[in-house]
Amino acid sequence: MAEKWVYLFDEVDQAEKKAGSWEEVRALLGGKGANLAEMTRLGVPVPPGFTVTTETCNAYLSADETFPEGMWDEVLEGMKDVEKKTSKTFGDVKNPLLVSCRSGAKFSMPGMMDTVLNIGLNDETAAGMIELTGDAAFVYDAYRRLVHLYGSVVMDVPDEAFEEPLDLLKEEKGYESDTEITADDWKALTETYQKVFKKNTGKDFPQEPIEQLKGAVEAVFRSWNGKRAIDYRNAAKISHDLGTGVNVVTMVFGNMGDDSGTGVAFTRDPATGEHVIYGDYLLNAQGEDVVAGIRNTKNIMELGQEMPETYKTFIEISEKLEKHYREMQDVEFTIEHSKLWMLQTRDGKRTAKAAMKIAVDMAHEGLITKEEAVKRVSPDQVDALLHPQFDYEAQEVARGEGKVFASGVNASPGAAVGQVYFDADTAEAKAKEDGQDVIMVRPFTKPDDVHGMLASQGILTSEGGATSHAAVVARQFGIPCIVGAGEVKIDLAGRKMTANGIVVSEGDWVSVDGTTGEVFLGKFPTTTPSFEEQTELAELLSWADDIAGRDGVRTGPDGFPTKGLQVWANADYPADAERARQYGAKGIGLCRTEHMFFEQERLPIVQHMILSDSSEERTKALDKLLPFQRSDFEGLFAAMDGLPVIVRLIDPPLHEFLPSMEELIAEVATMKAKGETDGLAEKEELLGKVQSLHESNPMMGLRGVRLSIVMPEIVEMQVRAIFEAAADVKLSGKEPHPEVMIPLTGHINELTAIQPRLEEIANEVMEEKKVEFVYKFGTMIEIPRAALTSAEIATVAEFFSFGTNDLTQMTFGYSRDDAERNFLLEYIEQGILPGNPFQSIDEDGVGRLMELCTLEGREERPSLEVGICGEHGGDPASIQLCHKYGLNYVSCSPFRVPIARLAVAHAALGV
Ligand code: PEP
Ligand code: MG
Repeated sequence: MAEKWVYLFDEVDQAEKKAGSWEEVRALLGGKGANLAEMTRLGVPVPPGFTVTTETCNAYLSADETFPEGMWDEVLEGMKDVEKKTSKTFGDVKNPLLVSCRSGAKFSMPGMMDTVLNIGLNDETAAGMIELTGDAAFVYDAYRRLVHLYGSVVMDVPDEAFEEPLDLLKEEKGYESDTEITADDWKALTETYQKVFKKNTGKDFPQEPIEQLKGAVEAVFRSWNGKRAIDYRNAAKISHDLGTGVNVVTMVFGNMGDDSGTGVAFTRDPATGEHVIYGDYLLNAQGEDVVAGIRNTKNIMELGQEMPETYKTFIEISEKLEKHYREMQDVEFTIEHSKLWMLQTRDGKRTAKAAMKIAVDMAHEGLITKEEAVKRVSPDQVDALLHPQFDYEAQEVARGEGKVFASGVNASPGAAVGQVYFDADTAEAKAKEDGQDVIMVRPFTKPDDVHGMLASQGILTSEGGATSHAAVVARQFGIPCIVGAGEVKIDLAGRKMTANGIVVSEGDWVSVDGTTGEVFLGKFPTTTPSFEEQTELAELLSWADDIAGRDGVRTGPDGFPTKGLQVWANADYPADAERARQYGAKGIGLCRTEHMFFEQERLPIVQHMILSDSSEERTKALDKLLPFQRSDFEGLFAAMDGLPVIVRLIDPPLHEFLPSMEELIAEVATMKAKGETDGLAEKEELLGKVQSLHESNPMMGLRGVRLSIVMPEIVEMQVRAIFEAAADVKLSGKEPHPEVMIPLTGHINELTAIQPRLEEIANEVMEEKKVEFVYKFGTMIEIPRAALTSAEIATVAEFFSFGTNDLTQMTFGYSRDDAERNFLLEYIEQGILPGNPFQSIDEDGVGRLMELCTLEGREERPSLEVGICGEHGGDPASIQLCHKYGLNYVSCSPFRVPIARLAVAHAALGV
């Protein structure tokens, strides 16, 4: 069959037959053309017209800008059909048909390509139109518009060449608005425009309507490869080979008097999602007058009073379109002498809040299924709903004004505004004592900075990456945070920071956008929605849980259908656990016990324990710590009544709990120089101990299970505390499910060396307390060797939890604290890596290890529980992989639980 280049608006059935699916019809005709045709099929009044396909555009562009054979004849045929339907004739002097040429690609590219209106007007048809309408002002306004558009779009004459004479005329005559311009003025302006045209192109404005049409179609095709369009496609990730369609549409006019008008509307409020018609219109106006905001528009509801009949029809059509597309529509219409014409319909853009409400409401209205509603909301939108946000437009303006101070890794989302302080103590004091909003700025953070971080609205570091201490803590507590902003030079002594030549001093205001990674100068207003208030979100997430919890949403490693992932949370304190549970977590996947060691009362005991020379002395210090730990765990188990809680035994190297070696050396040197002897011996002893613990590469040194083997007293105390707490909680009538997790295992013998000893303690406690409950012992998988020997490890471990922060670090050999700052971002920019492996799991490397580890571990122990507790557990792309690998749960910061709940449902639905 010969190629068909042109489809009339009433030939959508044929287009569908050729294309195969509606998606492909949109690709063939472009979004606008497909919807104009679909509206025609639905019986909605659309001005007659046709679409030249996107394939024609591609053929034209690849054949050195020549139309494919037979195409122009099809256009002429199309014009004949339109003439018949409108009872007007193109180029006819008495009753001329006028058309527009509008671009329309598969995906909307607002304002990126061109449109030419009023094609068919020339000196003769203009006279005929005046005869017909009796309105010379209207006709010459239309004519000069054609000369302008044709000149700029088809012939590349700069817009200013046409705008200048119009401005001059208005100035000379003292007109405030275009409506005051008379017929004679428009006529004179049309003549001026024709002169401008000739001056700039060396040619007369073409009087032949067919020539106008041809020029316009070609120009629309060429605009696909215009710079604006290419830039937009690059930014919006739209493929460059789709091409644009051209829609040739009969002109209808909203500026033919007070029984005419034009407007744009959404079928629901795009800001709030309310089910009300939302839009603007103007009587006696053209479409662009509404969009350009030249005149004050009226609320669409007022049309009900001004033109009740037309309004009624409009509402009926809008509802019909929404029902048909099962989506909120964004429509454009024109009323010509009380007759309503629909010029466009498309899915409307909306805020995150509106997206949520519309999806839930439409499911209740029976328009879409709950699965569809869940699919329609993106994890990013849920994220946006839970964090304070900056006003989007204010940010755009600030960007334009060069107020972006610096940017870095967007480590923890949300908007924060505050005054800058450069150390944790000052940050805390300013926040707590002076009630200031604080942004804490540090090169990087350490556990003993946490008090300052918690008191801050936002955090900025110049070093570190997505899994650095600052990032992990910030996400855990929902504090907006940017890390690794390498361009920021921090002068801690001078209490200022500099970036791009701008200095920000202590106390200055900045606005930190943890969602985009940008730091702005000055204060931006924010809004904060709360989870409890968002009933639609809660409902949608309950649907998401239901979807992921169904039998058979994926196939297990044994080939049998299984349920989807669960969402657990990383939480160290009872308050975090309560929040996690409120946000819908079904367990605690990681409690980092050592975080509790940093609290004010405990740190001296911890330090004393580390500095002890004998095991007895160490045990004494640990005895003092035990009640603290037990009460922490009691709170956690009580908050998670009936749900699993994974407590990880001590992980970091001990030097992290002691003062820094560099500081101690400096202090000792100063004391010696000043001849101070008071306390010098103690300082020197401390320094000696710190030096003895010093390692060149502590992340690969004495930490995790290695520490437990070398110094078992600490974990023995921890296990006792865990089981005593569980026993007490059980005795209080609740259901504790403790799971003890051993970190950083690399070899099965490490587990066999320590785990039986710990299990013994568990049994001892249960006997002492005369109570029984279910518990597990398991390990983290953070070292490639552990992943590769998972079958062996699973002989001892009852569960695995992927610590993908360390696993990524160890698999790539990239330091998780330095890589982003030093080279990783550069790698991503240069395309050496497709993305940041500390944010999204590296599927080919780390992902393969996870898959193999899960598979072989489960072969050994089919009941093996496998989860993830690295930062990737809250990342939607990583969640997709965890779903694929057959994990049981993902564990993430409480604040990301709602996002993860949606993401696991998306994985189950194959989104
Ligand atoms: C990990 O390594 O992924 C993990 C969860 O442990 P941490 O971040 O505490 O090292
Ligand atoms: Mg780790």
